Amino acid sequence: MSILIRNAAAILTGLRGAGERHAGPDLRIDNGIIAAMGALTPQPGEQIIDARDCVVYPAWVNTHHHLFQSLLKGEPQGLDLSLTPWLAATPYRFRAAFDEHSFRLAARIGLIELLRSGCGTVADHNYLYYPGMPYDGSAILFDEADKLGLRFVLCRGGATRTRQLESELPQALRPESLDDFLSDCARLTARYHQAAPDAMRRVVMAPTTPLYSMSPEELRTCAREARRLGIRLHSHLSETVEYQNSARERYDRSPVAFCGEYEWLGKDVWFAHLVKLDRDEIGQLGATGTGIAHCPQSNGRLGSGIADIPALEAAGVPVSIGVDGAASNEAADMISETHAAWLMQRARRGELARPRALGGDSEGGADAARIEDVVRWGTAGGAAVLGLDAIGTLEVGKAADIAIYKLDDPRYFGLHDIAIAPVASGGRPSLRALLVGGRVVAEHDAIPGIDMAQLAAQAREAVATLQRRSGV
Ligand SMILES: [Zn+2]
Repeated sequence: MSILIRNAAAILTGLRGAGERHAGPDLRIDNGIIAAMGALTPQPGEQIIDARDCVVYPAWVNTHHHLFQSLLKGEPQGLDLSLTPWLAATPYRFRAAFDEHSFRLAARIGLIELLRSGCGTVADHNYLYYPGMPYDGSAILFDEADKLGLRFVLCRGGATRTRQLESELPQALRPESLDDFLSDCARLTARYHQAAPDAMRRVVMAPTTPLYSMSPEELRTCAREARRLGIRLHSHLSETVEYQNSARERYDRSPVAFCGEYEWLGKDVWFAHLVKLDRDEIGQLGATGTGIAHCPQSNGRLGSGIADIPALEAAGVPVSIGVDGAASNEAADMISETHAAWLMQRARRGELARPRALGGDSEGGADAARIEDVVRWGTAGGAAVLGLDAIGTLEVGKAADIAIYKLDDPRYFGLHDIAIAPVASGGRPSLRALLVGGRVVAEHDAIPGIDMAQLAAQAREAVATLQRRSGV
C-alpha cells in the first residue's frame, strides 16, 4: 500500500537546525513508513493526496491531558479561580458526577478536538479512579482512541491519600490502596502496553501529584515498580508557588529535590507544568534528562505563570507540549496550544526586559521561541518524552504520522512564509488529511463515522446532566 502526498507548499520536519524545513514537495509512504521525500513521480496504483497550497507538519504529540474534563469547559464556579480552589470548584467537584456514558462522551470529544488540530498521539493523565468504580475508564479511553485510529498513552493516575481540598466536598471520592493502584498498573501494562518505538498503545504510571497523592515511601515503591514493569513515570509538578510552599514546609526542600530523593527523576520521567523552578532545580532536571509537558494555555488560564522553556532546554530537559484538561483550557487542541507557547515564551522574556539604567541589555523577547522550535517541541519533543522513537519527525524511515493543513481561511491570506501559518496565525486550519502510521484517519476535515451535530447535541445534554448531579 503506497500513498503519495504531492506538491506540498511547505514542509516543517520537527528536526533541529539545517533539516528543520524540507523542500519536498512530495512524500511517499510505503506500508505506513515514510519511504521517500523530494520530487517524486507517481507510481501505478498509488493513492494520491493532493497537497497543493497545503503545509505539512509531523502529526502533533500531546503529552498531557485529562480527557474527562472535555465536558467541563468554562465551568462558572471555577472560571476565575487559581489552581487549588479551582481544583475543588471544578474537576474534583464534578468527578463523582461522571458515569460510563459521560466519561466516554468526554473522551470522544477531547480526542476528536485534538485529531482535528492534527494531533496523532495523545497521552492522557486520567485520575478518575476509586474503589468499586462501576466502569473501566482505562478500557474506554483505549477503545475511543482506537476507533479514531490515534496512538494512545494512558498515564494511570490516582491517589492513596485524600487531599484536604477534596475531603471537604460532599461527593469526595475514596482513595485507593497502594496495592490496588499497583496491581491495576500491572494489569493495564500486561493488557495494553506495547514497548515498540511505534507503539499504538502505551501505559505509564502516574500518581496524580507527588506531593499530595501518596506518601514519600509509596512514591519510591511506585518508581521501582514502574521500572520493573518497563513503563514510564509521569505526574504534575511545580505548577504554582503552592508546590514550593508545600515541599518547603513539609519536607524542607524544593519539589524537584524531593522527587529526586524518592527516585522520581530520570529519562523515563516527565512532569506537566514545571512553571515555578529555581536554578538548582532546572540543573537537576537537565542533568537527569527528566522531561516537561509545557501547558501554556492552562498555566495562563489559571494564572499560574509561564515556564522558562529556553532555560530548561538549554539545561538539557526534553521539552514537549501538553494541552492539559479542558476544564482549565477552553481550547484543548494542539494548534491553540502551540500558538500560545510561541507568544507566551516571547512575552515572558520581554517581561524581564529592563531599562539600561537598571542593567538591562535587550529591548524585548522575540528571540525566545521560533516557530520551528515550537513545532519541534510539539512533535519530536513529545515523541522523545514518551519514548516513541519511530514518530515525531518527517524523515525517511519514520512512521508516517503526518498532518496536512489547507490554509483556506482569510486569516492565512497574505503570509510571506506559509510554512509558519498554523502556529503563527493560530485559529483552526482546515485539515486536508491526518495520517497515523500511514493510515488516513481524517480527510477534508471529516472523520469517518463521526456526526458532529449529533456530538454537539450529546455534549449539551451531558453538561446539563453533570450540572444537575453536582447540585448546580
Ligand atoms: Zn494536568
